[in-house]
Amino acid sequence: MTASAFDIAILGAGPVGRVLALMLARVAPDPSRIALLAGSVPAAAPAAGSPAAGSPAATIPAADPRVLAMNHGSRVLLESLLAWPDRSADIRNIHVSQRGRLGRTVIQNTDFNVPQLGSVVAYAGLHAKLDERVAACGVTVLSGPAAQVERQDADGVRIAQGDNTLLCQVAVQSDGAGATDLRRDYGQHAVLTTAHATLPRRGWAWERFTAEGPLALLPHPQTPDAYSVVWCSAPERANELAAMDNAAFSAALTQAFGDRLGRLSSQSPRHVFPLALAARRAQVQGRVVAIGNAAQTLHPVAGQGLNLGLRDAARLAQTLAGWLAQPESSPTARLTEFAQARQVDRFITAGLTDLMPRVFATGLAPVEHACGLALLGMDLASPLRAPLAQHLLQGFRA
Ligand SMILES: Cc1cc2nc3c(=O)[nH]c(=O)nc-3n(C[C@H](O)[C@H](O)[C@H](O)COP(=O)(O)OP(=O)(O)OC[C@H]3O[C@@H](n4cnc5c(N)ncnc54)[C@H](O)[C@@H]3O)c2cc1C
Repeated sequence: MTASAFDIAILGAGPVGRVLALMLARVAPDPSRIALLAGSVPAAAPAAGSPAAGSPAATIPAADPRVLAMNHGSRVLLESLLAWPDRSADIRNIHVSQRGRLGRTVIQNTDFNVPQLGSVVAYAGLHAKLDERVAACGVTVLSGPAAQVERQDADGVRIAQGDNTLLCQVAVQSDGAGATDLRRDYGQHAVLTTAHATLPRRGWAWERFTAEGPLALLPHPQTPDAYSVVWCSAPERANELAAMDNAAFSAALTQAFGDRLGRLSSQSPRHVFPLALAARRAQVQGRVVAIGNAAQTLHPVAGQGLNLGLRDAARLAQTLAGWLAQPESSPTARLTEFAQARQVDRFITAGLTDLMPRVFATGLAPVEHACGLALLGMDLASPLRAPLAQHLLQGFRA
């Protein structure tokens, strides 16, 4: 057993852990005193919101098929870290509608005077770019088995990674798991794939609420005029969709989405992700902080999970910047300040993404009509639309 001392140890090198490492490296007097623990998880134990067990993506980030809608704030942050992926697709218009009901709303970049409402990147492409930046930033990267916080006391935190033991002043959990205080199983899985349309519209993203669950078509980050499909439905239906031949799946997709893009066809592999809300009540316990999916795993509707996680990382780096100049002092008051500052954003974003798929799938006609009217009202009245779009664009910044 070896023991080494760090100021901060980051457990989990997904996008949130890596962004935190990059931000801390910029403010730390000695970046090598920040440890990033890039552990591999057993394929049999992925968290909710992660690829299903057995899929290569469960253990290899480069094989992760997720595409991520990044809002304006996240893009600015990643660009400032020179970590924006080489390929991305802009979203200039978002069309929100409800299958079989009245009403739809369109949110446009021109409403907010921004060049785009958001951009779509591939999880694998983002991972590769962050990997490149982290390798050059001076933090200590420790690859190995999954890391665990063993215990903490007034002197620091003890972490185990395989046979190695690490001592640090602050431990940050960014391993995408472990949020168990609040849990909601949506009874939904997401099917991910790529589709082509006979009448594509460049720069448009589509979010369609169906009785089965939300169906999103996002401009594909790597193939112009193709769409990344995120189709949520009951687990049995998701497995059925995943097992269909290409022709049957394409027909089902066109039927669920409607004819706004002509006929949809898909020849690409399909991947299934189980979905759940999983959140911690407290983001901070003593010297241990949870950020990103480790603090809250959300339903992918409206594409908010990583955007929220990046705001966690940015705020934590900002909060710890001053303390890193004198790491012999106690960090706990600053960590409490961090948790307080993040409360409202976490609450609003988790609440919004929890509510949307449930309200639109009640199966009760009056409720669905009310949702349709809400969408119609938002389309007619930009003051109603603005708060939703503003939050989706940037989230709440304390
Ligand atoms: C279908 C789907 C679509 C989505 N679309 C969007 C979107 O459009 N926009 C958006 O903002 N968000 C989206 N999300 C959410 C987004 O993917 C997550 O919020 C984001 O990946 C969280 O990043 P993270 O770094 O916190 O966790 P993760 O991405 O889960 O990374 C955690 C890392 O830690 C590693 N690890 C696990 N355990 C340990 C351990 N014990 N020790 C060390 N390392 C460990 C894992 O191997 C992994 O590499 C979507 C999610 C899904 C499921």
